[in-house]
Amino acid sequence: PQRAAEVRSLIRDVPGFPHEPIIFRDITPMLADGAALADVVEAFARLCEGPDGHAIDVVAGMEARGFLLGAPLATRLGVGFVPLRKAGKLPPPVERVSYDLEYGSAAIELRTGTLPVGARVLLVDDVLATGGTAAAAAQLVERSGGEVVAAAFLMELAGLGGRERLSGRVVETLLRVE
Ligand code: IMP
Repeated sequence: PQRAAEVRSLIRDVPGFPHEPIIFRDITPMLADGAALADVVEAFARLCEGPDGHAIDVVAGMEARGFLLGAPLATRLGVGFVPLRKAGKLPPPVERVSYDLEYGSAAIELRTGTLPVGARVLLVDDVLATGGTAAAAAQLVERSGGEVVAAAFLMELAGLGGRERLSGRVVETLLRVE
């Protein structure tokens, strides 16, 4: 973002939420600030513009905060938006990818036939932590016939192995915290 320090100041660090030792990064103050939200969406858009930008056909966002950033980005770029949903929210038929969490497992789904075959996809989410969600999202898009051009995040929590988990993929992050 052009005013990265201001955007960062609008992301609230909440130690111990949802439980220790997590420091939750709460983007709701940033979302509520019109200038900051526009700055963030613009920064994502610049990743996809110009001769060195990623040429994409569609933005895919991870539930739920990937929707909040991905949909305005898609509008700004003039492309469509595809929601990657938590299991059980979409009516059938769906494609599903399961992945492991620290405790238990989760699954994400994409409606079968939503992505045109060969669609160039930008994945969008708010936070890159361990990379488990994004790796599953990339697999889901590919299983559905899309091509993951890059994965873009507002904030990278360095040191949790997300970038390594996504090695071999293009990873873009607007802010990085150690
Ligand atoms: P990962 O799968 O460990 O990379 O976690 C990333 C997913 O969990 C994303 O969908 C994020 O929205 C969510 N997430 C993880 N940590 C945080 C956080 O501190 N704040 C907000 N979302 C988080």
